[in-house]
Amino acid sequence: MELHVHTFDLPLKHTFTITHESRDVQPTLIVELTWHGKSGFGEATETPYYGVTMEKMIYQLESIRSFLPSDILPHPNDFWKMMSKYLLDDHPFALCALDVAYWDLWGKTHDKALHQLWGLDISQNPITDYTIGMDTIDVMVSKMKEMPFPLYKIKLGTNQDIEIIEALRKETDAVFRVDANTAWTVEQTLEFAPKLKALGVEFIEQPLKADNWEGMKRLKKESVLPIIADESCITESDVAQCAEYFHGINIKLMKCGGITPALRMIQQGRNLGLKIMVGCMTESTIGCSAIAQLLPLLDYVDMDGCLLVDDKISQGIRIDFGHVIYAKEGGTGAKLIQHG
Ligand SMILES: [Mg+2]
Repeated sequence: MELHVHTFDLPLKHTFTITHESRDVQPTLIVELTWHGKSGFGEATETPYYGVTMEKMIYQLESIRSFLPSDILPHPNDFWKMMSKYLLDDHPFALCALDVAYWDLWGKTHDKALHQLWGLDISQNPITDYTIGMDTIDVMVSKMKEMPFPLYKIKLGTNQDIEIIEALRKETDAVFRVDANTAWTVEQTLEFAPKLKALGVEFIEQPLKADNWEGMKRLKKESVLPIIADESCITESDVAQCAEYFHGINIKLMKCGGITPALRMIQQGRNLGLKIMVGCMTESTIGCSAIAQLLPLLDYVDMDGCLLVDDKISQGIRIDFGHVIYAKEGGTGAKLIQHG
């Protein structure tokens, strides 16, 4: 099996601002695994918020090159187990790119989309939201009007959060969800929740600091809107604790180390009665095509990363007014069309 590592700078359509950072370009790394003429692709993005750099990921991937299977393809679960021995300890972004590339190759080798291999029914898939990054109220309104959508996720954490939602609500009947990226206090969240609910917001993502478990306990009891964990739910070991403090979890493939652990987290979260969401980074169609395979298993999905970048490097799924249209190819259906 051959491993190729491609790197790109994806131009962002808008400067993307959340509580912690602001940027115009998204560096991303694409893993390509080639086997008997077929290639599988997976993605991981440079993410300073989680301490992930391109150099580190490239170094990690070089370190496992000689351990890749050479004769037969093991099942993806076994492949993940093998690779996680080397790549899980530090941060799992590189492991995610490798795992997704391997699942994609596995599906392409079997000539089936992954959702077909897993026996999932795609007829009731949830629609994805479209994210509006933080900016002045006027810019946020114009960003929303630029992209008519049935469902928006609004990034908050300013000193005029309710005013933002009021201004956006004047312009659309779409459903809203909000993500405070840890910017609020318990008191703010309890004050905002009824107002947001009245403005058509369906849930709040990660209002408090990731380790404010005491505060989360109060919110789970007292908030009139469901609270979804993102920064508090990184890997498989976080799911059980989150079930005590949140109504749902936002799983991200790069945070947890790929499709293999994400499938286990979805199962565990369901067993614990959690709402299940899968989110994305600002990533290309390669990353989003992997998320699309999981849709029948989810309550909520935020997979608009490929709409936020000017993606000239890859093809795969498409998104039409929130609905995912699958590619014809097997695996995740993704392919690289430009080589970096
Ligand atoms: Mg979030």
